[in-house]
Amino acid sequence: LPDDKPVPTVATRRRTRMIHVGAVAMGGDAPVSVQSMTTTLTADINATLQQIAQLTAAGCDIVRVAVPSQDDADALPAIAAKSRIPVVADIHFNPKYVFAAIGAGCAGVRVNPGNIKRFDDKVGEIARAAVDHGTGLRIGINAGSLDKRLMEMYRTDPAGALVQSALNEARLFEDVGFHDFAISVKHHDPVIMIQAYRRLSEACDYPLHLGVTEAGPAFQGTIKSSVAFGALLAEGIGDTIRVSLSADPVEEVKVGVKILESLNLRPRQFEIVSCPSCGRAQVDVCTLAEQVTEALKDMTVPIRVAVMGCVVNGPGEAREADLGVASGNGKGQIIAKGQVIRTVPEDEIVETLVTMAHEMAADFAEQ
Ligand code: SF4
Repeated sequence: LPDDKPVPTVATRRRTRMIHVGAVAMGGDAPVSVQSMTTTLTADINATLQQIAQLTAAGCDIVRVAVPSQDDADALPAIAAKSRIPVVADIHFNPKYVFAAIGAGCAGVRVNPGNIKRFDDKVGEIARAAVDHGTGLRIGINAGSLDKRLMEMYRTDPAGALVQSALNEARLFEDVGFHDFAISVKHHDPVIMIQAYRRLSEACDYPLHLGVTEAGPAFQGTIKSSVAFGALLAEGIGDTIRVSLSADPVEEVKVGVKILESLNLRPRQFEIVSCPSCGRAQVDVCTLAEQVTEALKDMTVPIRVAVMGCVVNGPGEAREADLGVASGNGKGQIIAKGQVIRTVPEDEIVETLVTMAHEMAADFAEQ
């Protein structure tokens, strides 16, 4: 189990203003939060709350729900009241739902000024409603729905156009004295997205919501998001993240949580260290690693388990971990806290590791 060694970090967080989305602080010295979005019909209150509960259990800090119709807007008071995590209403096109969401008690509202007609005229009223209800806003700029006035610039400088659009909208709110908002400038291309967020972080001090939009199915989207978020977070840029996947949103949360854990921006939970196997392996490492991962997937204490295929790196990695196996010749040497405990046949390795991991978790819980 973890000792008192200081946790290394990748970068000093860029200090922004802090806003609040319900009970979750965003920006300033608040931890980077993980967001996701429900895929249920928002009007189906039970299904939406059930999915929110699943996202919460996976580590989601803030959840967004789509509000494309009056039925969805009507469901917001119940959803906002019963969700354990802050609910953000996602509003496009129709500004009346912005006011409905604020009045419904949503902790936050995401507005997309690019597709709300005469948005400029409504900013003052939106800001007043948000102040009255303590609602956090996000100005969500997307390449796919950029302000038409910036399309010419977008052709030659897409990142610049996203940033310019965000700053234009931010200025409208600033002009009415409102500053409690985060900003996102999402793009499907991680390179343009990284450029846009870097430039935006130079130009303002609002909390930044990171996202690679339309990132694709799980495998591609995970890679794109991890690369883009990793680059920015390592520079201290980013206060909340949403991984967008064409997949179950619980997967988005799991990926987001792992990204933060990998950078020590969130305390690490269960972690597996396993070798990729090679011609020296004397056991089926890949299957062993998958079985241990599956058996311990619900582990919530920070235990690191090493599954290693041979004696080249096996004993060393297993000793570095809380628990591990260094395999050889169809057997596994079980190592706990740096000490060889016993040697078991290959078909008992998984069971032994899982049992010992649970024992360690129980000890950890008692401490
Ligand atoms: Fe190959 Fe052994 Fe390294 Fe695994 S630990 S990759 S089996 S050399």
